[in-house]
Amino acid sequence: MSQELTAGKVLSPSTPWTDRQVPGIQVADEQQTFKATFTEPTIECPECHALVTRTAMSFNAYVCPQCDEHLRMRARDRLNWFFDQVNGELGQEFSAKDPLQFVDSRPYPDRMREAQDKTGETEALIVMQGSLKGLDLIACAFDFDFMGGSMGTVVGDRFVQAAERAIALHQPLICFAASGGARMQEGMLSLMQMARTAAAIQKMKEARVPYLVVLTHPVYGGVTASLAMLGDVHIAEPKAMIGFAGKRVIEQTVREKLEEPFQRAEYLLDHGVVDQIVHRHALRDTVYRLVAKLMNLP
Ligand SMILES: [Zn+2]
Repeated sequence: MSQELTAGKVLSPSTPWTDRQVPGIQVADEQQTFKATFTEPTIECPECHALVTRTAMSFNAYVCPQCDEHLRMRARDRLNWFFDQVNGELGQEFSAKDPLQFVDSRPYPDRMREAQDKTGETEALIVMQGSLKGLDLIACAFDFDFMGGSMGTVVGDRFVQAAERAIALHQPLICFAASGGARMQEGMLSLMQMARTAAAIQKMKEARVPYLVVLTHPVYGGVTASLAMLGDVHIAEPKAMIGFAGKRVIEQTVREKLEEPFQRAEYLLDHGVVDQIVHRHALRDTVYRLVAKLMNLP
């Protein structure tokens, strides 16, 4: 008999068989306490604090199975979940530069490298081509984990390229927005992306190519002030925070206390900023239905 099976018990020929351990079955004794251990990495729901395994979360599109909270989704997960089939990624040839040689507490290239190591992405916007229910389309998603999903020149480059490709192929463009705004390390150049992306969207409108925006938690600043508010239809996820300036900044400016639903998707729906709030599980169907309608498909 192996050592661990008999651990804690002395076996001698005089031990009655009723006291002998059964091989392969662990018995708790005073030294040994059983603890529930997860063999898989888990995610804690920020709302109800339920621990859910990463696999279960990913199968549920990062919606908490306990309380229906919509957790933030990484850009790549988002696009892989959204498409039935991915045919390729666009804009990988663009890479960030440091034209202003910007240093705040640390140099910009250091922050960039850190974000790349942390996320495994090269920039905060990912663009993919693929099909949804047999319909070819282009979709882009912001990765909030990459420097707060901030919009620098590369994000602008990738978005404009996605829009141009959408026009050339006459395919709709879907944008999953999640951003803190413009990237301050690129100064004026990042603000320029607001005008660039707005111009690209205008070209899409002239070419009658549908452009849909899905506002996910959170969307702020220069992204709200440009590409995220120029869609043909604006869909928001439940409880997403959407605004230009944050609540605290507005409170200090207008000297008024703002109540909780302020800047939440539900509040914005009541005030006409967003067209529809859609549960994540219904999002693919809704986007498909809207696009088919806008493109006069049967
Ligand atoms: Zn929950």
